[in-house]
Amino acid sequence: MADDTRTEDSTPSTADDVTFDRAFVPAHGTAVPIATGVERITCGNASPFTFTGTNSYIVGSGSTVALIDPGPEDDAHFEALMQALGPRKLSHIFVSHTHRDHSPLARRVKEATGALTVAEGPHRAARPLHAGEVNPFAESADTDFIPDIVAADGATIDGDGWSLTSVHTPGHTANHSAFALEGTGILFSADHVMAWATTIVAPPDGSMGDFMASVEKLLTRDDRIYFPGHGGPVTEPRSFLRGLRTHRRMRERAILERIRGGDRLIPEMVKVIYASTDVRLHGAAALSVLAHLEDLVEKGFVATDGPPSLVGEYRPG
Ligand SMILES: [Zn+2]
Repeated sequence: MADDTRTEDSTPSTADDVTFDRAFVPAHGTAVPIATGVERITCGNASPFTFTGTNSYIVGSGSTVALIDPGPEDDAHFEALMQALGPRKLSHIFVSHTHRDHSPLARRVKEATGALTVAEGPHRAARPLHAGEVNPFAESADTDFIPDIVAADGATIDGDGWSLTSVHTPGHTANHSAFALEGTGILFSADHVMAWATTIVAPPDGSMGDFMASVEKLLTRDDRIYFPGHGGPVTEPRSFLRGLRTHRRMRERAILERIRGGDRLIPEMVKVIYASTDVRLHGAAALSVLAHLEDLVEKGFVATDGPPSLVGEYRPG
């Protein structure tokens, strides 16, 4: 899922901070070779949140391969994955996180192939719900998914000519993990870093503090290219990460300015800060602002009564 796309067309949009590339054209349902031993199959679940649909990846050049992010419970995508696998055996299904556009099809693919599922863990929120708080994104979580293999940060699973290492990247969800294909410079960045838009960070499942720490963590790595959960590759990961970091800091500054200028409520801030964003994403944008406010309240820059919430009143700290 993504947040704050700036334009509705498919031309790259540029801000001072980060350049998003929305020129990706998916081949829905078809396996597209994108690197040696890597194929991408994009599901037909396009939406404002999923861009052109969820990307599933088949990894391996041998007779036994791995699948990353099987996708949503979707008949056509299941058939497409089975057709793409052909006679090859599937040994592992890696799941980046438990949103309904990424993990639910794992169950059917596992039943059909006998592969083991691999993930950081089952779905959980980044923090407990506050009294009276309703989780607005509860519907997007796949709470049924339980991995066969719980992969610790840095754990590597070796397959038939491939090795995938878990790189825990919480923030979008608490259990979010990227996967590095050893020896290639390829990182499957899932929903943590995507070329077309910044990811949504929505409390209580998401955490802005965790997200920023995960951006810093990837900056310490020297991956060559990212293949994300939605849209095309991130071809210059390090400069893109630095742009994302700047983008988030600018967003943070914009929120602080709105509050110092007299705004007290999140909807007031969203209307101005996200003026150029598709209104269908304004609910998600409000959660992104809340994620920043949680961080700003914790750091003492903003004050509010009780825990930060969507309906709370905010004032300078
Ligand atoms: Zn997601």
